[in-house]
Amino acid sequence: MGEEETGEEYLFKIVVIGDSAVGKSNLLSRFSRDEFDHNSKATIGVEFQTQMVEIDGKEVKAQVWDTAGQERFRAVTSAYYRGAVGALVVYDISRRTTFENVKRWLDELNTHCDTTVARMLVGNKCDLENIREVSVEDGKSLAEEEGLFFIETSALDSTNVYKAFEIVIREIFNNISRKIL
Ligand code: GDP
Ligand code: MG
Repeated sequence: MGEEETGEEYLFKIVVIGDSAVGKSNLLSRFSRDEFDHNSKATIGVEFQTQMVEIDGKEVKAQVWDTAGQERFRAVTSAYYRGAVGALVVYDISRRTTFENVKRWLDELNTHCDTTVARMLVGNKCDLENIREVSVEDGKSLAEEEGLFFIETSALDSTNVYKAFEIVIREIFNNISRKIL
């Protein structure tokens, strides 16, 4: 009990968007349960996972939402985006089309959320270096153009997964303090 009294608890809703099969659900399960699913079956029904993260002594409950297969029909609902303060826009570095579609996902995000949402462009599956179709430079320059953070991840071998969420959460805190000031 004593510990709980020392700090506030924060709840941040973070959405994960991007084309089907880029690895959104696996980024989420790696982040929240440190698990990877080798079967490509679409995740149906799972709305979000929560994970406690400690940032600079602050306890954050990251509530990370998964499109749960809706994205296959380009039918991600406005309820999905409602209240989001962070977003991971994911593509697959081994499939160029998923990178080309990032702009469509950003457009959708912009129609549902205001510009203060902390955004991270995520090039997932960086373990697939031998069949890479999107260079690191291309990812970086798109991120710069669109004003996003950028990182490459692998949900398979855990590279940068926690870090991606951590950077977004830090930016959410920055946004909060900017609004207060
Ligand atoms: P979603 O449709 O975006 O939720 O994608 P999933 O998480 O279901 O993953 C789609 C497929 O890609 C599955 O077969 C996963 O095993 C695979 N996958 C996901 N992340 C990675 C990764 O980082 N590296 C590799 N090699 N495969 C991945
Ligand atoms: Mg999924």
